[in-house]
Parts: sequence; structure tokens; C-alpha cells
Amino acid sequence: MMQVAVASTAVIASQAMAQAKVDEKDPQAAALGYLADTTKVDAKKFPKHAATQKCSGCQLYTGKPADASGGCALFAGKLVAANGWCSAYVKKAG
Ligand code: SF4
Repeated sequence: MMQVAVASTAVIASQAMAQAKVDEKDPQAAALGYLADTTKVDAKKFPKHAATQKCSGCQLYTGKPADASGGCALFAGKLVAANGWCSAYVKKAG
């Protein structure tokens, strides 16, 4: 019984960690110009940005294509929005 309780607490803890989304106001996110919605990116500030660019199509994104959010190599332990974008965007190969 005790073991079950410990195991389920560990699962809840790991899910909570995995679900922490990157805050746009986080200093690192702000430095990279990260936004959770690629359509809101300032075209004057980031002239190379295109609305077709988003985290789900980025080389550094580790989420699955169908997921609303996923991991990013630049934000360890946090989730970025599949429709998000930052200035470190690199088009996924292939
Ligand atoms: S590096 Fe790629 S996946 Fe990570 S936040 Fe920037 S655009 Fe999104």
C-alpha cells in the first residue's frame, strides 16, 4: 500500500514538472523573443520570421506532432507551445 502511494506521488510530480510551460516573461524566453503564438511575433523586430515557422516545425522541438506543446532543447524541463516561436528557430530537416 505504501509503495503504491509513493509510486503515484512520483508520477504526479513528474507530470507536474513536465507540464511547466515556458513563460514568455521568463528572462531566457524574453531574450529569445519566445511567444506562445507565432502569429503574434513582431515582424519589425524579427523580419526573418514567417507565420509558417512554429515550434512544432523546429529542429529543437522534441514534442510529438499531434501535441499542443512539447519540449525544446533550449528550455530544459519545460514545455513550449506547438504554435510558439522564438528567434532560435531552425527549420526541421526533412
Ligand atoms: S528553439 Fe524552436 S522549439 Fe524552441 S522555442 Fe525556439 S522555435 Fe520553439
